[in-house]
Amino acid sequence: MKFCSSFLLVLALALGARAENLKSIDSYSDAVAKANARLTIPEWPQTPEAVETSTKEAIKKGNAALDAIGKLDPKKVTFQNTVIALDDLAYEANNVGNKATIIKQANTDPKMRAAAEKAVKAINDWFVGIDYREDVYKSIKAFAETNPQLTGEDKKLLDETMRDYRRAGLALPSEKRKEVEQLRKQLAKLGTDFDTNIANAKRPVVFTKAELEGMPEDFLSKPGIKTGDDTYTVLANVTWQFNAVEENAKSEATRKKLYIARETLAMEKNVPSLNQMLTLRNKIALRLGYKSWDDFQTEPRMAKTGAAAQNYIDDLVAGIEPKFAAELSELQKMKQLDAQPSEGGAFAAPRINIWDWRYYQNQLKKQKFAVDAEALRNFFPFQKVLDGMFAIYQRIFGLKFEKIAVPYKWIDDLQLWAVSDAANGEPLGLFYLDMFPRDGKYNHFAEFEIIGGRLLPDGKYQRPTVTLLCNFPPATADKPSLLSHSEVETLFHEFGHVLHTITTRAKYGRFAGTHVPTDFVEAPSQMLQNWVWDKNVLDSFAADYREPSKKIPGDTIQKMKDAKLATAGVFYRRQFAFASLD
Ligand SMILES: [Zn+2]
Repeated sequence: MKFCSSFLLVLALALGARAENLKSIDSYSDAVAKANARLTIPEWPQTPEAVETSTKEAIKKGNAALDAIGKLDPKKVTFQNTVIALDDLAYEANNVGNKATIIKQANTDPKMRAAAEKAVKAINDWFVGIDYREDVYKSIKAFAETNPQLTGEDKKLLDETMRDYRRAGLALPSEKRKEVEQLRKQLAKLGTDFDTNIANAKRPVVFTKAELEGMPEDFLSKPGIKTGDDTYTVLANVTWQFNAVEENAKSEATRKKLYIARETLAMEKNVPSLNQMLTLRNKIALRLGYKSWDDFQTEPRMAKTGAAAQNYIDDLVAGIEPKFAAELSELQKMKQLDAQPSEGGAFAAPRINIWDWRYYQNQLKKQKFAVDAEALRNFFPFQKVLDGMFAIYQRIFGLKFEKIAVPYKWIDDLQLWAVSDAANGEPLGLFYLDMFPRDGKYNHFAEFEIIGGRLLPDGKYQRPTVTLLCNFPPATADKPSLLSHSEVETLFHEFGHVLHTITTRAKYGRFAGTHVPTDFVEAPSQMLQNWVWDKNVLDSFAADYREPSKKIPGDTIQKMKDAKLATAGVFYRRQFAFASLD
């Protein structure tokens, strides 16, 4: 018996490790009822046909709701049956569109992704069309003309709804209005195609070991990299592979080759699309009476006008310029030392090219600050980082995260977590984690809303459900997934978006969570990512995975901070360049 029972125990432990004993969402039903809330695991369409059907049904339902608004007797319009009804139907369609977006970005079946891509296009198209339902506009306008005395979120909802109509061209004569509608639909389609082309683009670049001098052995031995005796294949479209080579490869020719391969992904299709998009944008702005696309684009944001945005960025650029120039000359000195004398005996002019800065910054960090970014990975095994970050965010925000059972998984290691208020058990939302790269998956790091938060017509509050789609380096046969410090920072940042969405109390879907002006939306995450520069915080989870009692030494953290400061000029100058494009 003894043997049997211990055998059973071992078996139970083995099974336990395989299939964790997770709570189901039903275990929250009392807390959900008490909070008068709704907590929802989305129902996912699981065949291409189901994707198509659910999209068609959503559009049909949306159209019926639009018809109801459009048919209203102008004397019987209320806030509820016009403006709120419009927000409701947009919210419902958004949730279907959000699911299609996740399938498009993360499903493992190319047929599912293709069906979802069609669905996303159909829904985007339909959304543009909503603005041009004149019957609906008439009802909403009739309500606005009653000069309702609204306050707070209600007033904001009416004001912004009317502003959207004006921006869609509804104040224009019908011929011009129709033209703007067509232009906007074309623009939306080109935008979706552009993203899809990038996601589908694969560009393997083959190098010899000599060409990859400087790359850590660990990188060279990763699955898929060593593809022959002296052949190493780097995927220019895979972000972590690209970054590793740009930061470590000694040869400028190698860095340049990979940089160009990456920056020209999908170029054949996307450059013509981009040119078309620029023309369309300009036409739309002019037709609507704006001076330019930047005025049109900034109107609903904190910046308000293109000129204000430009001035803001110009001020920042001027402020950073001396620091940027000083840093660049530091990098140039390093490149000078690497340069070979040309035939005349003179050194080649050490211009820091766009494919150089990552490498020389990395060298600077290693030489001047003795920070070896690759070696630091040993302190950041993925699971420990995740657990550590959860502990920190739970503490700061008074939250409780619990891993729960996932009824439908698009990948085996998909996780689902429930978030509650730690003080009173109020359920606040759900988040999925899909953390590692694979073919056809979205290739950056981002948070996606699936079900938005809002007050439902029945008085219950729909809590949000979101997902993270990330691309951390996968585990290998002998090592766990090891994150760089910058990937740890990215995780803290993206998870900031998760919490921004999940902790919402907004009444309307339109204002919930991350539905804020786009020049504000990054602020919460940018604040939260700073935790990874704090020694106490790092000590709470970062430890050498081979020897967990070993923490990152205090002077290393200080050096990392010094190195960050020493490269802040280039970092921010680059961010300002991104910020000046939209
Ligand atoms: Zn962000």
